[in-house]
Amino acid sequence: MEFIYCTACGEKLITKEIGDEGLLPFCPLCNKPFFDLFNTCVIVMVVKDDRVLLLKQNYVSEYWVLVAGFIKKGETAEEAVAREAEEETGLKTKEHKYISSYFHEHSEALMLGYLVFVEDDKFTITREVDDLRWFNINEVDKYIREGSIAKRHIDNVKRFLNYK
Ligand SMILES: [Zn+2]
Repeated sequence: MEFIYCTACGEKLITKEIGDEGLLPFCPLCNKPFFDLFNTCVIVMVVKDDRVLLLKQNYVSEYWVLVAGFIKKGETAEEAVAREAEEETGLKTKEHKYISSYFHEHSEALMLGYLVFVEDDKFTITREVDDLRWFNINEVDKYIREGSIAKRHIDNVKRFLNYK
């Protein structure tokens, strides 16, 4: 999200060169620069042994997807990972491992990609999902949309876990 007016005084912002940040929207009355806002999300690959948990959310995609969601104000990324995983799968996660980040242009969101493990594989199909299923890590690619952030994240996790 880009600012057009000053959030403090309502003045229309100008563009000004600010130090090493380059050109930024700037309020000449408050003498204050504005940075574009974006959301921060987590995208989570839930793994148990050689299997990956994927979910179907018909309102999101016809493809299988990974657990994902917005980080709430006041929450750490790891707390959001555990909360989203539990909300969407009913599973308690452990060993929250940060892997890589991705920027989702369409929703203007920075997505922090995590790998988590679960003790128990008995998920619950929660109200937030239409289906859940374990897939073998070597076959998971077939079910994920090509070019998606989920696909990039899975590739990165596989590399991290030394799968080819
Ligand atoms: Zn102002």
